[in-house]
Amino acid sequence: MPAMPEASVKSAPQKAMEKLGLVRDIDLALHLPLRYEDETRITPIAALRENEPAQVEGVVVDCQIEMRGRRQLLVRLKDESGSLLLRFLHFYPSQQKQMAAGGRLRVRGEARIGFFGREMVHPVVKVVDEDTPLAQSLTPVYPASAQLPQAYLRKAVASGLARADLREILPVGVVQSVGMGGLPSLKDALNYLHHPPPSASQEALHEHHHPAWHRLKFEELLAQQLSQLQAQRERALLVAPALRARPGGLHEKLLAALPFQLTGAQQRVAEEIAQDLARPQPMHRLLQGDVGSGKTIVAALAAAVAIDAGWQCALMAPTEILAEQHFRKLVGWLEPLGLKVAWITGSVKGKARQKMLDAAASGEAQLVIGTHAVIEDKVRFAKLGLAIIDEQHRFGVAQRLALRNKLKAMDLEPHLLMMSATPIPRTLAMTYFADLDVSTIDELPPGRSPIVTKVFTESKRHDVVDKIRGAVADGAQVYWVCPLVEESEVVDLRNATETHAELSAALPGASVGLLHGRMSSTDKAAVMAQFSGGQMSVLVATTVIEVGVDVPNASLMVIEHAERFGLAQLHQLRGRVGRGAKASACVLIYSPPLSDTGKARLKAMAETTDGFEIARRDLDIRGPGEFMGSRQSGAELLRFADLQEDAPLLVAARALAPRLLDEHPEAARRQVARWLGTKAEYLKA
Ligand code: ADP
Ligand code: MG
Repeated sequence: MPAMPEASVKSAPQKAMEKLGLVRDIDLALHLPLRYEDETRITPIAALRENEPAQVEGVVVDCQIEMRGRRQLLVRLKDESGSLLLRFLHFYPSQQKQMAAGGRLRVRGEARIGFFGREMVHPVVKVVDEDTPLAQSLTPVYPASAQLPQAYLRKAVASGLARADLREILPVGVVQSVGMGGLPSLKDALNYLHHPPPSASQEALHEHHHPAWHRLKFEELLAQQLSQLQAQRERALLVAPALRARPGGLHEKLLAALPFQLTGAQQRVAEEIAQDLARPQPMHRLLQGDVGSGKTIVAALAAAVAIDAGWQCALMAPTEILAEQHFRKLVGWLEPLGLKVAWITGSVKGKARQKMLDAAASGEAQLVIGTHAVIEDKVRFAKLGLAIIDEQHRFGVAQRLALRNKLKAMDLEPHLLMMSATPIPRTLAMTYFADLDVSTIDELPPGRSPIVTKVFTESKRHDVVDKIRGAVADGAQVYWVCPLVEESEVVDLRNATETHAELSAALPGASVGLLHGRMSSTDKAAVMAQFSGGQMSVLVATTVIEVGVDVPNASLMVIEHAERFGLAQLHQLRGRVGRGAKASACVLIYSPPLSDTGKARLKAMAETTDGFEIARRDLDIRGPGEFMGSRQSGAELLRFADLQEDAPLLVAARALAPRLLDEHPEAARRQVARWLGTKAEYLKA
């Protein structure tokens, strides 16, 4: 019988460590303490202060089990300054023996000073003798888990730290050259952070302000910048079809047929995109513009250029409703010019689906529009020249990687255009999106009236309904957004179905429709068609309408339980109105009490309609981690650096990265490997 390979027999703590990503020595070395316990000094009992952690040492004068309401073990400890009661509500007989009278104990805990004097409940106890040495450094407390005892983890980290190769990777002088010369080496920094000397400021450690922390964050940011730069350079080596716009070509015909003129901003970004397309390297560009700024026509123009040059274009949107709306709009624009547009989503099935797949594979369809179904394995393109992703932040990391891998399989790499209404704050643009070119539409089409936003509590709901009655009588179209589809465990949440019934009753004679995520796509499309055609006055909907829906005549947006939505989401929803010349309003209804962040969000909504300002505040309220949303799922990409606080470190790392890559490529490679290991792939998504 073959011997069992030893590596396959893993203990529970080993498995728990793997789960935390603690595999290599360097992973252990980079697993930093959450906080520290101070076992380096002894506090005299008389000097103990209420609720402050401390360590004392003394001799047991009494150890008894008593019934004081419940059974408990009471131990009286004495030193030269005074006496302390140790109280154990849960204990083993062995503990009673361990703490027998006459023994010397070192105990650590938080003191309470009560009627019967000083006491500690469930302190950590160690039996010592008179010359047991004190700890030489603060004791680290690591992020652990139920299966991973702190003591086990401490040992594992200490030996990982000792074994890890922490030799200096960065050539002498480069750290100084970007003004970071005062920082300790990585090795010193890690030794310090795992085992700080007794004199260390716990505050600087905790707040991550210590130079050792700065070194760590700088190294991490540098690795991240390097990996982005590498991705960018790799991309520059790829070959894409050069798609040149012909004078008198499709895009000019499309422009001529439009009922409006492009804004200056639209012209500018369309030109930036056209220049990218004309180059034989794949474009990697983000088109950002506030909701309603007119990104779709810019995308259509790019598609026209690609198609005119003899290539196919794919357009992906995160939801069926949005994909369908793009489909209608682009068919309206492009089919009169003789183009064929295919439509692929999860709900297109059977023969119809096969027909679409064939049209994409043969090249008969010059434009393919759909949801993420477009990146499924079965979809093939004859000659894909341009891929456009709308609302790119709504796609997860896995989907973006799938798209990238699919595109990689082609002879020539297609150009990639991503669109988003959520502007990327500066520090994020310098990190996660560093290898992305950005075009910004910073102007709204003319004739838009500003949206007035009002915030009401739930108790004013009736007044809101009265207002709607008046508005509808004047021919207005209204969105009413509810957060949940069905009554769930959250009983107090008004659901869309109920609201629909209620509004139907409250607005006799008005057509009130209902749209939610559980409806079939045919039903959804039918409802949307009625609303956008103007036959329906009020559309009660869940957040299925969140992104991109475009019905210019709609002028009133009511959002119920607004406190449950994120700021970006609220802004997106509000952006569904104010798209025509009609004065528009947004009403946010909330149920008190509001949390602090809930308050901050509603306040931001009431104070500004500027998407960039909203994004900035959103980042303030949530911090970068959450702001990134699904992009980060599966991997916490920056563990140590805080993009807001550490902007100066980021600037330095950014300055250093290209020099390191050019002048010390081997050091650059090792830096990325040390820090990112397998995560580098994610950073490229
Ligand atoms: P978003 O940037 O949010 O995707 P859309 O592309 O949906 O915005 O455009 C919003 C609305 O503005 C659409 O009805 C679109 O046809 C219209 N639009 C776009 N550009 C202009 C323009 N230059 N002048 C007038 N209307 C425009
Ligand atoms: Mg859009």
